[in-house]
Amino acid sequence: MITTVYDKSKLFGGAVAIAAVIAFLGINGRAGAASPRIAAAPGNQSAVPKGSKLSGAMLHRLHPNEIGDVLILEYHNILPHPDNPYTSSPAQFHSVMTLLYSLHYRPVSMSSYLNNTINIPAGDSPVVYTFDDADESQYRILPNGKVDPNCAVGMMIAFNKLHPDWHLRGTFFVLPRDAFGQHSLRAQKLKSLIKMGFEIGNHTVTHPQLSKLSNTQVQWQIAECDHLIDELVPGTKVNTMALPYGISPRDRVLALRGSYGSLHYQNRAVLLAGADPAPAVISKKFNALRVPRVQPVMGVCGLYFWLKFLKHHSYEQFISDGIANQTTVPRRYAHLVNKERLNGSKLVIY
Ligand SMILES: [Zn+2]
Repeated sequence: MITTVYDKSKLFGGAVAIAAVIAFLGINGRAGAASPRIAAAPGNQSAVPKGSKLSGAMLHRLHPNEIGDVLILEYHNILPHPDNPYTSSPAQFHSVMTLLYSLHYRPVSMSSYLNNTINIPAGDSPVVYTFDDADESQYRILPNGKVDPNCAVGMMIAFNKLHPDWHLRGTFFVLPRDAFGQHSLRAQKLKSLIKMGFEIGNHTVTHPQLSKLSNTQVQWQIAECDHLIDELVPGTKVNTMALPYGISPRDRVLALRGSYGSLHYQNRAVLLAGADPAPAVISKKFNALRVPRVQPVMGVCGLYFWLKFLKHHSYEQFISDGIANQTTVPRRYAHLVNKERLNGSKLVIY
């Protein structure tokens, strides 16, 4: 029964539950015989040698679509007993990684998404992990100095050790005054996140509803957040922001660029709180002021809704050609390509 699949406790319980979700979604697992995708070689090596072209047979088999929609996942806190739909338990968090891995998703950075430089094996799809609010449950250091294996970062590190082709990528949209609890460890945590391969984003200073603030207050919230991050880790590149509550300021452009006193900011993308996969950056549908995300929740417009939708509308999904510096687009979408965003990548229409 479908209701059984939607029971969270059963859904996230483990391998059996994941198999049930895959069956429910009707998606072939990794390297399944009937899968249109090919098995990826380990170590993030593309199955297509660099510099080579895709043969007609490969195009037919893989259906690469690098103008397709991208899943940008939005997490908040990770607690053993979630008390609201926007909180995940460690088991749920781990199960989503396992599910996405089995469905040929691979984490990529926000930068590579925005630069049109997503580099994952042919046939795979990108997922951009994002974390809002800088809750301690996202990144906790234990008294012995080790990363808590049950916080988000700890679980991602363990998953990466098990699956080296699942890279440590993602963006933490932080509230810098109290980033990740454990006040004295703020700078150390931000530094180590960057060292591991993660990126830091702006989530304002005090998490206000920006629509209720004056233009000056909006610019202070964003400029000061960047400034505080820079004080903690000098030189940190912050060029994306996630809107608190997904609410834009009255003058939407102020989320993208502005200044307060001598502090200036220029973001490349402003992230919403929901509730769709995001257009590829080379798509004319991409709007830097409103980049949507998907929450790992049940129900309409949650992760499972979209995984099922993309299964049945796979021609709308970003599927990699596995070739660096080449952007492969089905002919039916040629009219949607914004060539100014190719960023030097060779456009191949088929
Ligand atoms: Zn928030």
